[in-house]
Amino acid sequence: VPVVPPDTRSRAALGLSVAAARGRFMLQVCKECSAIQYPPRDACSSCLSVGLDWQVVSSRGRLVAETVVRTSTHVYFRERAPWRVGTVQLDCGPSMICHVHGDCVPQGNVHIINRLDKSGHGVLFAVPEKEMPAMEDDPQLRELTCSPKFRRILITDARSESGLALAKAFSGADAAIVFAGEAESWRHWPERENLQRLDNVELVPLDVSDTQSVEELCGEIGGKVDILVNNARFVRPGGVIDGGDLIFAQ
Ligand SMILES: [Zn+2]
Repeated sequence: VPVVPPDTRSRAALGLSVAAARGRFMLQVCKECSAIQYPPRDACSSCLSVGLDWQVVSSRGRLVAETVVRTSTHVYFRERAPWRVGTVQLDCGPSMICHVHGDCVPQGNVHIINRLDKSGHGVLFAVPEKEMPAMEDDPQLRELTCSPKFRRILITDARSESGLALAKAFSGADAAIVFAGEAESWRHWPERENLQRLDNVELVPLDVSDTQSVEELCGEIGGKVDILVNNARFVRPGGVIDGGDLIFAQ
């Protein structure tokens, strides 16, 4: 079972998750005195007004302190140690403790990005102010992204119209391996050879309408798959379109 990062948040802090889902860096701003708040709270830290609005603010700041955590009481971070964290003084006022990209230099200028973590909550991450080559390959940043590079992908239906296109795209994006599910391998399909010629693509037996087939593949590669693309057009029997849909899954 995959371990997820800590997921307890205050009601006010859920605003960070909403902003992360929209891909924005937002903080609370006081309607009365315009003070920018961090961490998220219910009343303004300078005038106690409860009128706080989430607004896009400048994400620029300076990495004033940093360290590397080598052990943690939380399993998620223990499995991923060492883990770099630091304190960033934002140009717009507040300072914040955040995750830190490997290319950020101490006392250097940084940007803070707000991304959803694997618990579905917004987390703050300091990245170098200027774009660096291969910046997205940072292992800590990769915990917050779904880039197919170096990842293992499962496409459930290689035979479908999108199967070959998906496999090509993932192979071209440097996926570590692309498993492509194939139901009834004895049944001919035109693109099979083209698919097999792709780098890092492997056909695996999979029929999503057959529980045993799904369980067998899970036992074999379930723990290794990072990204699942379920493109098999299987509609559960019992719906309004009950009937001929089973054929789509095969
Ligand atoms: Zn205020």
